[in-house]
Amino acid sequence: FDVYGAPIIGKGAEWKGIVVVFHDITELKRLEQIRKDFVANVSHELKTPVTSIKGFAETLLDGAMKDEQALEHFLAIILKESERLQTLVEELLDLSKIEQQGFQLQWEEVNAAEIMEEAAAVFRQRAAAKRIALQVKAPPDLVIRGDRNRLKQILLNLLANAIAYTPEQGQVIVDAGETAQEVWLRVKDTGIGIEKKEIPRIFERFYRVDKARSRDSGGTGLGLSIVKHLVEAHHGSITVESEVGRGTVFTIHFPKPER
Ligand code: ADP
Repeated sequence: FDVYGAPIIGKGAEWKGIVVVFHDITELKRLEQIRKDFVANVSHELKTPVTSIKGFAETLLDGAMKDEQALEHFLAIILKESERLQTLVEELLDLSKIEQQGFQLQWEEVNAAEIMEEAAAVFRQRAAAKRIALQVKAPPDLVIRGDRNRLKQILLNLLANAIAYTPEQGQVIVDAGETAQEVWLRVKDTGIGIEKKEIPRIFERFYRVDKARSRDSGGTGLGLSIVKHLVEAHHGSITVESEVGRGTVFTIHFPKPER
Protein backbone atom coordinates (compact mmCIF):
# COMPACT_ATOMS: atom_id res chain seq x y z
CA PHE A 1 0.00 0.00 0.00
CA ASP A 2 0.94 3.61 -0.54
CA VAL A 3 -0.26 5.75 2.37
CA TYR A 4 -0.86 9.51 2.19
CA GLY A 5 -1.85 11.60 5.22
CA ALA A 6 -3.02 15.23 5.38
CA PRO A 7 -4.25 17.28 8.34
CA ILE A 8 -7.58 19.10 8.15
CA ILE A 9 -7.14 22.56 9.55
CA GLY A 10 -10.15 24.75 10.42
CA LYS A 11 -10.58 28.51 9.71
CA GLY A 12 -9.14 29.51 13.04
CA ALA A 13 -6.15 27.25 12.39
CA GLU A 14 -7.56 24.70 14.83
CA TRP A 15 -6.82 21.05 14.31
CA LYS A 16 -9.94 19.30 13.00
CA GLY A 17 -8.66 15.91 12.00
CA ILE A 18 -6.67 14.01 9.49
CA VAL A 19 -7.34 12.40 6.13
CA VAL A 20 -5.53 9.18 5.38
CA VAL A 21 -5.60 7.61 1.92
CA PHE A 22 -4.57 3.99 1.40
CA HIS A 23 -3.77 3.23 -2.20
CA ASP A 24 -3.50 -0.40 -3.28
CA ILE A 25 -0.45 -0.51 -5.58
CA THR A 26 -0.10 -4.29 -5.88
CA GLU A 27 -1.22 -4.22 -9.54
CA LEU A 28 0.94 -1.17 -10.33
CA LYS A 29 3.95 -2.86 -8.73
CA ARG A 30 3.29 -6.01 -10.76
CA LEU A 31 3.08 -4.06 -14.03
CA GLU A 32 6.20 -2.11 -13.12
CA GLN A 33 8.02 -5.40 -12.44
CA ILE A 34 6.90 -6.82 -15.80
CA ARG A 35 8.19 -3.68 -17.52
CA LYS A 36 11.53 -3.88 -15.71
CA ASP A 37 11.91 -7.59 -16.53
CA PHE A 38 11.13 -6.82 -20.16
CA VAL A 39 13.76 -4.10 -20.41
CA ALA A 40 16.31 -6.36 -18.70
CA ASN A 41 15.46 -9.20 -21.10
CA VAL A 42 15.69 -6.98 -24.18
CA SER A 43 19.04 -5.59 -23.04
CA HIS A 44 20.42 -9.04 -22.42
CA GLU A 45 19.15 -10.45 -25.71
CA LEU A 46 20.62 -7.52 -27.67
CA LYS A 47 23.92 -7.58 -25.82
CA THR A 48 24.71 -11.21 -26.58
CA PRO A 49 24.97 -10.92 -30.38
CA VAL A 50 26.56 -7.45 -30.22
CA THR A 51 29.32 -8.73 -27.91
CA SER A 52 29.97 -11.64 -30.21
CA ILE A 53 30.06 -9.49 -33.38
CA LYS A 54 32.43 -7.01 -31.74
CA GLY A 55 34.70 -9.76 -30.39
CA PHE A 56 35.08 -11.56 -33.71
CA ALA A 57 35.60 -8.32 -35.66
CA GLU A 58 38.34 -7.29 -33.22
CA THR A 59 40.02 -10.70 -33.45
CA LEU A 60 40.04 -10.39 -37.24
CA LEU A 61 41.57 -6.91 -37.12
CA ASP A 62 44.17 -8.15 -34.58
CA GLY A 63 45.63 -10.44 -37.22
CA ALA A 64 43.29 -13.44 -37.58
CA MET A 65 42.34 -12.04 -41.00
CA LYS A 66 45.59 -13.40 -42.45
CA ASP A 67 44.41 -16.95 -41.75
CA GLU A 68 41.98 -17.61 -44.57
CA GLN A 69 40.06 -20.34 -42.75
CA ALA A 70 39.64 -18.25 -39.62
CA LEU A 71 38.56 -15.31 -41.77
CA GLU A 72 35.76 -17.26 -43.38
CA HIS A 73 34.68 -18.90 -40.15
CA PHE A 74 34.59 -15.65 -38.17
CA LEU A 75 32.79 -13.76 -40.92
CA ALA A 76 30.15 -16.49 -41.02
CA ILE A 77 29.62 -16.04 -37.27
CA ILE A 78 29.44 -12.27 -37.63
CA LEU A 79 26.82 -12.65 -40.36
CA LYS A 80 24.77 -15.13 -38.32
CA GLU A 81 24.82 -12.94 -35.23
CA SER A 82 23.89 -9.86 -37.28
CA GLU A 83 20.91 -11.75 -38.70
CA ARG A 84 19.93 -12.73 -35.19
CA LEU A 85 20.10 -9.11 -34.12
CA GLN A 86 18.01 -8.08 -37.12
CA THR A 87 15.30 -10.67 -36.39
CA LEU A 88 15.23 -9.63 -32.75
CA VAL A 89 14.84 -5.93 -33.55
CA GLU A 90 12.18 -6.63 -36.20
CA GLU A 91 10.18 -8.86 -33.88
CA LEU A 92 10.43 -6.37 -31.02
CA LEU A 93 9.19 -3.55 -33.22
CA ASP A 94 6.39 -5.72 -34.57
CA LEU A 95 5.34 -6.82 -31.08
CA SER A 96 5.24 -3.23 -29.88
CA LYS A 97 3.14 -2.27 -32.91
CA ILE A 98 0.69 -5.13 -32.31
CA GLU A 99 0.40 -4.18 -28.64
CA GLN A 100 -0.47 -0.54 -29.40
CA GLN A 101 -4.00 0.56 -28.54
CA GLY A 102 -4.99 1.55 -32.06
CA PHE A 103 -3.54 -1.51 -33.82
CA GLN A 104 -5.69 -2.32 -36.85
CA LEU A 105 -6.09 -5.43 -38.96
CA GLN A 106 -6.85 -5.34 -42.70
CA TRP A 107 -9.99 -7.46 -42.58
CA GLU A 108 -10.96 -9.56 -45.58
CA GLU A 109 -12.18 -13.04 -46.47
CA VAL A 110 -9.14 -15.26 -46.66
CA ASN A 111 -9.01 -18.68 -48.25
CA ALA A 112 -7.47 -20.93 -45.59
CA ALA A 113 -5.87 -23.41 -48.02
CA GLU A 114 -4.04 -20.59 -49.83
CA ILE A 115 -2.30 -19.16 -46.79
CA MET A 116 -1.56 -22.65 -45.45
CA GLU A 117 0.16 -23.61 -48.72
CA GLU A 118 2.03 -20.31 -48.89
CA ALA A 119 3.26 -20.65 -45.32
CA ALA A 120 4.28 -24.28 -45.80
CA ALA A 121 6.18 -23.39 -49.00
CA VAL A 122 8.49 -21.16 -46.94
CA PHE A 123 9.56 -24.18 -44.90
CA ARG A 124 9.80 -26.88 -47.57
CA GLN A 125 13.57 -26.62 -47.75
CA ARG A 126 14.13 -26.50 -44.02
CA ALA A 127 11.85 -29.51 -43.55
CA ALA A 128 13.59 -31.47 -46.31
CA ALA A 129 16.99 -30.76 -44.76
CA LYS A 130 15.77 -32.47 -41.56
CA ARG A 131 13.88 -35.13 -43.52
CA ILE A 132 10.67 -33.96 -41.89
CA ALA A 133 7.47 -34.76 -43.79
CA LEU A 134 5.58 -31.48 -44.04
CA GLN A 135 1.95 -31.92 -45.07
CA VAL A 136 -0.89 -29.48 -45.67
CA LYS A 137 -4.45 -30.78 -45.40
CA ALA A 138 -7.00 -28.08 -46.04
CA PRO A 139 -10.57 -28.21 -47.31
CA PRO A 140 -10.53 -26.17 -50.55
CA ASP A 141 -13.30 -23.65 -49.76
CA LEU A 142 -12.69 -22.85 -46.14
CA VAL A 143 -12.76 -19.10 -45.45
CA ILE A 144 -11.38 -17.20 -42.47
CA ARG A 145 -12.28 -13.57 -41.84
CA GLY A 146 -9.07 -11.81 -40.95
CA ASP A 147 -5.90 -10.09 -42.04
CA ARG A 148 -4.24 -12.15 -44.74
CA ASN A 149 -0.63 -11.22 -43.90
CA ARG A 150 -1.16 -11.51 -40.16
CA LEU A 151 -2.88 -14.90 -40.49
CA LYS A 152 0.06 -16.07 -42.54
CA GLN A 153 2.44 -14.71 -39.91
CA ILE A 154 0.65 -16.81 -37.27
CA LEU A 155 1.16 -19.92 -39.39
CA LEU A 156 4.79 -19.05 -40.17
CA ASN A 157 5.61 -18.72 -36.48
CA LEU A 158 3.89 -21.98 -35.53
CA LEU A 159 5.51 -23.82 -38.43
CA ALA A 160 8.97 -22.46 -37.60
CA ASN A 161 8.57 -23.86 -34.09
CA ALA A 162 7.12 -27.18 -35.25
CA ILE A 163 10.14 -27.74 -37.50
CA ALA A 164 12.68 -26.42 -35.00
CA TYR A 165 11.42 -28.62 -32.16
CA THR A 166 10.91 -31.78 -34.21
CA PRO A 167 13.87 -34.15 -34.63
CA GLU A 168 14.94 -35.61 -37.97
CA GLN A 169 12.46 -37.80 -39.82
CA GLY A 170 9.50 -36.46 -37.90
CA GLN A 171 6.23 -35.19 -39.23
CA VAL A 172 4.54 -31.81 -39.32
CA ILE A 173 0.92 -31.45 -40.40
CA VAL A 174 -1.02 -28.25 -40.99
CA ASP A 175 -4.76 -28.75 -41.23
CA ALA A 176 -7.95 -26.76 -40.87
CA GLY A 177 -11.68 -27.23 -40.54
CA GLU A 178 -14.88 -25.82 -39.17
CA THR A 179 -17.69 -26.53 -36.75
CA ALA A 180 -20.99 -24.67 -36.37
CA GLN A 181 -19.29 -22.08 -34.15
CA GLU A 182 -15.73 -21.76 -35.34
CA VAL A 183 -13.07 -22.16 -37.97
CA TRP A 184 -9.93 -23.84 -36.68
CA LEU A 185 -6.35 -23.99 -37.92
CA ARG A 186 -3.94 -26.52 -36.51
CA VAL A 187 -0.20 -27.15 -36.59
CA LYS A 188 0.73 -30.60 -35.38
CA ASP A 189 4.22 -32.04 -34.91
CA THR A 190 5.85 -35.24 -33.71
CA GLY A 191 8.55 -33.29 -31.88
CA ILE A 192 10.02 -33.05 -28.41
CA GLY A 193 6.80 -31.85 -26.78
CA ILE A 194 6.29 -29.39 -23.93
CA GLU A 195 5.89 -30.26 -20.26
CA LYS A 196 2.45 -29.45 -18.83
CA LYS A 197 3.78 -26.98 -16.30
CA GLU A 198 5.60 -25.02 -19.04
CA ILE A 199 2.56 -24.60 -21.29
CA PRO A 200 1.10 -21.50 -19.58
CA ARG A 201 4.49 -19.76 -19.79
CA ILE A 202 5.44 -20.32 -23.44
CA PHE A 203 3.35 -17.34 -24.58
CA GLU A 204 5.32 -14.94 -22.36
CA ARG A 205 7.79 -12.64 -24.07
CA PHE A 206 11.29 -14.21 -24.15
CA TYR A 207 10.20 -17.36 -22.34
CA ARG A 208 11.84 -20.49 -23.70
CA VAL A 209 11.77 -23.96 -22.20
CA ASP A 210 15.33 -24.57 -23.37
CA LYS A 211 17.26 -21.37 -24.10
CA ALA A 212 20.21 -23.04 -25.84
CA ARG A 213 18.01 -25.09 -28.13
CA SER A 214 15.87 -22.08 -29.03
CA ARG A 215 18.94 -19.97 -29.78
CA ASP A 216 20.50 -22.68 -31.96
CA SER A 217 17.36 -22.86 -34.04
CA GLY A 218 17.32 -19.07 -34.49
CA GLY A 219 14.51 -18.54 -31.97
CA THR A 220 14.06 -15.27 -30.11
CA GLY A 221 11.43 -16.33 -27.58
CA LEU A 222 9.04 -13.74 -29.03
CA GLY A 223 7.29 -15.87 -31.66
CA LEU A 224 4.48 -17.27 -29.55
CA SER A 225 3.75 -14.01 -27.80
CA ILE A 226 3.36 -12.37 -31.23
CA VAL A 227 1.09 -15.27 -32.26
CA LYS A 228 -1.08 -14.89 -29.16
CA HIS A 229 -1.52 -11.15 -29.69
CA LEU A 230 -2.40 -11.63 -33.35
CA VAL A 231 -4.90 -14.39 -32.58
CA GLU A 232 -6.56 -12.18 -29.97
CA ALA A 233 -6.68 -9.27 -32.43
CA HIS A 234 -8.74 -11.65 -34.60
CA HIS A 235 -11.07 -12.30 -31.60
CA GLY A 236 -9.77 -15.87 -31.62
CA SER A 237 -8.05 -18.11 -29.10
CA ILE A 238 -5.16 -20.55 -29.11
CA THR A 239 -4.96 -23.92 -27.37
CA VAL A 240 -2.03 -26.30 -26.91
CA GLU A 241 -1.94 -30.03 -26.39
CA SER A 242 1.41 -31.65 -25.92
CA GLU A 243 3.11 -34.77 -24.72
CA VAL A 244 6.83 -34.82 -23.94
CA GLY A 245 8.69 -36.94 -26.46
CA ARG A 246 5.62 -37.40 -28.67
CA GLY A 247 4.69 -34.03 -30.06
CA THR A 248 2.64 -30.88 -29.86
CA VAL A 249 -0.56 -29.54 -31.38
CA PHE A 250 -1.31 -25.82 -31.54
CA THR A 251 -4.93 -25.03 -32.50
CA ILE A 252 -6.21 -21.57 -33.38
CA HIS A 253 -9.95 -21.04 -33.01
CA PHE A 254 -11.61 -18.23 -34.99
CA PRO A 255 -15.21 -17.12 -34.61
CA LYS A 256 -17.17 -18.06 -37.73
CA PRO A 257 -17.71 -15.27 -40.27
CA GLU A 258 -21.33 -14.15 -40.33
CA ARG A 259 -23.27 -15.12 -43.43
P1 ADP B 1 11.34 -19.46 -29.77
O1 ADP B 1 11.81 -18.36 -30.62
O2 ADP B 1 12.27 -19.82 -28.67
O3 ADP B 1 10.84 -20.65 -30.54
P2 ADP B 1 8.54 -19.00 -29.10
O4 ADP B 1 7.89 -17.87 -28.38
O5 ADP B 1 8.13 -19.25 -30.50
O6 ADP B 1 10.09 -18.78 -28.98
O7 ADP B 1 8.30 -20.32 -28.25
C1 ADP B 1 8.57 -20.32 -26.86
C2 ADP B 1 9.07 -21.67 -26.40
O8 ADP B 1 8.01 -22.64 -26.48
C3 ADP B 1 10.20 -22.26 -27.24
O9 ADP B 1 11.45 -21.78 -26.85
C4 ADP B 1 10.04 -23.75 -26.97
O10 ADP B 1 10.67 -24.08 -25.75
C5 ADP B 1 8.54 -23.92 -26.81
N1 ADP B 1 7.88 -24.41 -28.05
C6 ADP B 1 7.21 -23.66 -28.95
N2 ADP B 1 6.71 -24.42 -29.94
C7 ADP B 1 7.07 -25.68 -29.67
C8 ADP B 1 6.85 -26.96 -30.32
N3 ADP B 1 6.15 -27.06 -31.46
N4 ADP B 1 7.38 -28.06 -29.72
C9 ADP B 1 8.08 -27.97 -28.57
N5 ADP B 1 8.32 -26.82 -27.92
C10 ADP B 1 7.82 -25.68 -28.45
